[in-house]
Formats: sequence, C-alpha cells, structure tokens
Amino acid sequence: ADPAIHIQSVDKYYGDYHALRDINLDVPDGQTLVICGPSGSGKSTLIRCINGLETYASGTVEVLGLAVGDDRHLCNLVRKQVGMVFQNFNLFPHLTILENCVLPQIRAIGKDRAAATEEALSQLAKMQVQEHVDKYPDQLSGGQQQRVALARALCLKPKIMLFDEPTSALDPEMISEVLDVMQALAREDMTIICVTHEMGFARAVADRVILMAEGRIVEEGTAEQMFNAP
Ligand code: ADP
Ligand code: ADP
Repeated sequence: ADPAIHIQSVDKYYGDYHALRDINLDVPDGQTLVICGPSGSGKSTLIRCINGLETYASGTVEVLGLAVGDDRHLCNLVRKQVGMVFQNFNLFPHLTILENCVLPQIRAIGKDRAAATEEALSQLAKMQVQEHVDKYPDQLSGGQQQRVALARALCLKPKIMLFDEPTSALDPEMISEVLDVMQALAREDMTIICVTHEMGFARAVADRVILMAEGRIVEEGTAEQMFNAP
C-alpha cells in the first residue's frame, strides 16, 4: 500500500537559512510517528510542509497520494483530510466552544448546521468538554482549550492528524489530560505525526520516533531504541 505521507529529497530555505536538508520520510497508513529534536531543528517546518502551510525549494511531498506544493487546489484537498493542532490552541476567541467546532464544518466541508452541531457535540463529549459548549475559549483552562482544538479538528474527519508541541504551552497538571485523549486517538487507526518532548507519551504510543537536528533527520527507531538506549 502507498504510505499516507511520502516525503522525498525535500529542501527548504528561509532566505539564506537552510531549514530542511534532504528530508526523506515515509509514514505508513495508521502509524504514530513522534518527531523530537532541539528547538530550531526544523520540526515545525517539516510538519507545516505536510499540510501546505509552507512551500519548499525542491523535492516531493505526497499526502494520501496527492502532491502538496504550489498547487492551491491540491493543498486545499489535502488540508481537508489533515487535521492540525498547534501549541497555542488557535481557537477563534470571539466564537463559543460549540461554534468553534461547528463553523469549520460548514465552511470547509459544506455540512449543514444541524449535522455539524450533532458532530460537534459528539466530539466535544468524547473530549469531556461538553459542559462548556456555550462558553468562550478564554473561560476554559489551557488543557480544556486544547481538547476543544482536538475536537474541532476531529469534526472534519481527517485521515491524518498533525500535532505541533500540543502540550508545551500547558501547565504541568494539564498535560496528561491532553496526552490521554491523544493516546486514545493513536490507538485507533489514525495516522499521527506529533512533535513533542513528552517521552512518556512517545514510549506509550509511538510506532516510530525520528530525531531532527539542524534541518536533518539524524536518527530514527522505535521509542525503545531511541529512549532506552544505554
Ligand atoms: P523547531 O520546530 O524544531 O523549533 P522550526 O521549524 O520552527 O524549528 O524552525 C527551524 C529554523 O527555521 C529556526 O532556526 C527558525 O528560526 C527558522 N524559521 C522558522 N520559521 C521561519 C520563518 N518564517 N522565517 C525565517 N526563519 C524561520
Ligand atoms: P515553533 O518552534 O513552535 O515553530 P517559533 O517560535 O520557532 O515556534 O516560530 C513561531 C512562528 O514564527 C512561526 O510561524 C515561524 O515560522 C516564525 N518564525 C520563527 N523563526 C523566525 C525567524 N527567524 N524569522 C521569521 N519568522 C520566524
């Protein structure tokens, strides 16, 4: 079977700065891949290339068989199938929790409001934030907001989920409530790429871990190989 994500010989520059250097990576369907590495090593840039948030100088990125790149039409097709959760929640501050989850379904996939509301309530219940649906994001804790962000992404029924340091803006006591729902997701057959420093999470759910440094993939292995090596 074709991999969910196929990245071949990708190079990316910010001006003169060589941010990604000859990246080659295949992610099979259903795999949970954790990306770690020091700040500035290109982790964010790499996952942003996957859903067309960044362009790149050369190479190929294929997502679900579609070549992402300069083609806006293909990028939009890909984005409908790829959910993304960022460090800083990125909820719409002026919309209620429910509306944060309903509106993208109407705008991005043309659902009617009744069906979108039903889906939103179901996803918000799975994330255990259903009692907050009429509140605004700033009335929720960081951990609750991140679970809303996750529910919002899942409402669009993505085939792939990308996470960029989803717990690094959270207070320590809230980290596990987000990791727990991500773990449940990873055990389903979703394809997941997660940039994180949470080694416990990586050990629990990663099928594979890659380590980046200075724009390259410098090591790869199972979580055991990567974190328990002598
Ligand atoms: P990481 O996610 O591993 O911290 P990033 O992918 O965010 O790394 O960044 C890789 C490098 O590229 C860093 O040195 C960063 O400063 C630089 N960089 C990231 N985004 C931009 C940008 N929009 N313009 C210029 N440089 C950038
Ligand atoms: P992260 O490592 O999570 O990407 P950063 O602080 O590196 O966080 O980047 C935050 C935002 O700033 C990103 O949109 C990134 O593209 C941009 N950015 C990062 N470094 C630079 C830079 N040197 N010049 C311009 N934009 C940058």
